[in-house]
Amino acid sequence: MADKKNKKNKNTELELPMIALKGVVVFPNTMVSIDVGRKVSVEAVEYALKNGSKIFIVSQINLMMDDGLTADDVYQIGTISEILQVVRLPGNVLRIIVEGKTKATVQSFIQGEAFFKVSLKESEGVNQAIDLETESLIRVAQESFEEFARISVKLTPDSIFSVISAETPKDVSYLISSSLSVSYTEKQRLLAMDDDIERLQETVKLLLKEIDLLNIQKTILEKVKDNIDKNQKDYYLKEQLKVIQEELGDLDGIKNDIVEYRAKIEKANFPTIVLEKLEKELKRLARMSPNAAEVGVTRDYIECLLELPFEKKDKESKDLKKAEEILNQDHYGLEKIKERIIEFLAVRQTAEKSSSPVLCLVGPPGVGKTSIAKSIAKSLGRKYIRMSLGGVRDEAEIRGHRRTYVGSMPGRIISSIRRAGTSNPLILLDEVDKIGKDLRGDPASALLEVLDAEQNFNFRDHYLEVPFDISDVIFICTANSLETIPYALKDRLEIIPLSSYTEVEKNHIAKNYLFKKQLSKHGLKKNQLKIYENIFLDIISSYTKEAGVRELERNIGVLCRKAVKNIVTENKKTITITKENVSDYLGTPKYKYDTVNELAEVGVAKGLAWTSVGGDTLSIEVNVMKGTGKFELTGNLGNVMKESAHAAISYTRSKYEQLNINKNFYKETDIHIHIPEGAVPKDGPSAGITMATAIISALTNSKIDNLVGMTGEITIRGRVLPIGGLKEKVLAAKKAGLKKIIIPYENEKDLADIDSSVKQGLDFITVKDMDEVLKNAFVD
Ligand code: ADP
Repeated sequence: MADKKNKKNKNTELELPMIALKGVVVFPNTMVSIDVGRKVSVEAVEYALKNGSKIFIVSQINLMMDDGLTADDVYQIGTISEILQVVRLPGNVLRIIVEGKTKATVQSFIQGEAFFKVSLKESEGVNQAIDLETESLIRVAQESFEEFARISVKLTPDSIFSVISAETPKDVSYLISSSLSVSYTEKQRLLAMDDDIERLQETVKLLLKEIDLLNIQKTILEKVKDNIDKNQKDYYLKEQLKVIQEELGDLDGIKNDIVEYRAKIEKANFPTIVLEKLEKELKRLARMSPNAAEVGVTRDYIECLLELPFEKKDKESKDLKKAEEILNQDHYGLEKIKERIIEFLAVRQTAEKSSSPVLCLVGPPGVGKTSIAKSIAKSLGRKYIRMSLGGVRDEAEIRGHRRTYVGSMPGRIISSIRRAGTSNPLILLDEVDKIGKDLRGDPASALLEVLDAEQNFNFRDHYLEVPFDISDVIFICTANSLETIPYALKDRLEIIPLSSYTEVEKNHIAKNYLFKKQLSKHGLKKNQLKIYENIFLDIISSYTKEAGVRELERNIGVLCRKAVKNIVTENKKTITITKENVSDYLGTPKYKYDTVNELAEVGVAKGLAWTSVGGDTLSIEVNVMKGTGKFELTGNLGNVMKESAHAAISYTRSKYEQLNINKNFYKETDIHIHIPEGAVPKDGPSAGITMATAIISALTNSKIDNLVGMTGEITIRGRVLPIGGLKEKVLAAKKAGLKKIIIPYENEKDLADIDSSVKQGLDFITVKDMDEVLKNAFVD
């Protein structure tokens, strides 16, 4: 190959400024951007710019050296270059773009300048003729370079193009050399080579090595990337797996639940229709995704069905003697009621279920309606569940919501049975008179269905969807008043009225029942709290105003509570409640009973009233004044009472002659009727005769007997109509100290229900009309 080379050096001498570069070799025919910072180099560039822009560029041998370079510190062979562009950067740095022109060797360093100036000898080889071998070498080089360019990302399209378009081994070798990522020493070696073909061969070698390196690098990179990818993939897979496992776990949860449910189904004895329903729901559940919202709903439903006592019943005790004992144990008095209940229990044993009536205990609060129901349950050995109907307005509360509603539940009947755990509890339907009605349906009619023995063996709750036999449930209702029980419902009920207790009864209940109950409730022994004999009576009259004994029980509870506190904190053995210290425990007395007026007066009559807390007496006062016939009513009266007042006036006018009253009194006299204690609302027709008596008394100026009390509705013709709540009224009259009581004739029969101890010392006068009232009401 050597003989083909035509070595012909030009060897021209030149003097040029020089710069030394660190780690960079500039090849002829290539363009490089260089930052020049060293003072000597900057001076050299400045000089060059002023003198034809030619500069000689060499590489520094020792990269660590900065200043004080000598001739020995740089390579001797470098490239004469032309400065094409200069950019002045801050800090006295010049960014120059140079183009390598020809290779040259330093001949000598020229002294006397602030920069290096060298004398050079150009050492470009002579162009050789290109033979086939060289050509193919060039081609190999170019193709290799193309391959290299494909792998290496660093090359610009320009540099690729210039290699491909270069034609001589010199150009190709220089261009490729400048693009190789070999060390600067290697590059310097290439630059220094005189033989272009040799250099090209060397470049190709390096290029191929470089390609290999790049390929290996690439595979390593890919492997690393694969690894990272794999790690990422693993991470995602693991995350997915976690979610799947969670779901699988829950699936297992559902599966476990289904197994559990099935075990329960096996154990219980469900009717076929329920079994079918359960089976269907279990299948649905098994098919559900664990995260579906329906899972909870379906589980709740299945659990509700499983918990319902379809075939579970408490054995009913048939021992009537024992039942009677229990009733007596828990309740004082109430003979008639207890008797009726024993009858009811007896009939249950002989008659068909469907003919058994539904009892409804009606009476004021605290008279023992609930506790009687509880005792009935106890005596029958059944579970007792209380279900309050006060304020129930929605039919769904009785019969449940359909399962399509969110948060739907069974109605109260089914919930009560679920709570009881047996299908034959005693359910107390408390306060049926307070049941409401609105847009959402009529709960009373749903209740009717519940109570109807002909239908209720097949009771359908909307939520449950399967029928439930409630014919074995005993329903007992309570109400405060008959008037507000919906008519259709009232028709189904057998009413058992309970009335107020007398003071004597209350005293007895307090002593023998409530006190004992409260003692044990507060963990007190009998000898720790002593209550003087008549203290209960004081409590009844001064601290309570009620028909029943609830307030009384609460007050006894307060005594017990305070006693416990004193025993614990003051280390006392016994607390004794006396007349003197009772107010220390219960505070100042709350009530003072209306008592008889001391003297007979004109225009003041005592009426007897019935309120939700029992009976009360009512003073009705009338003033008449000369005037223009104005008629005034004050004292928080209801409409019915106002109508009664008008009826009384009308009656009086019609009887003016007989009563010896001025004919024109209704035109010439102002009448003012007042009923004191305006804070207490009063209504009802039963004050009619009392108002008429007071008006006539005022108009005729005759005194009313202060020991007379009266109750009765008046018609405008003076007839006296019957009233309700006689027992309570009589109790109040007795308590107030009245002696003579005027009642409607038709109420005479009710006197039989009143305890003889109450009636003792009272004179009852039954009347049919006002004449009879007036005959008995006045002093004369
Ligand atoms: P109601 O249901 O009529 O409002 P409760 O049954 O709640 O009244 O009775 C209130 C309290 O009075 C209960 O503690 C009850 O035991 C007691 N009680 C009511 N009547 C009697 C009675 N005749 N004998 C004993 N305790 C009674």
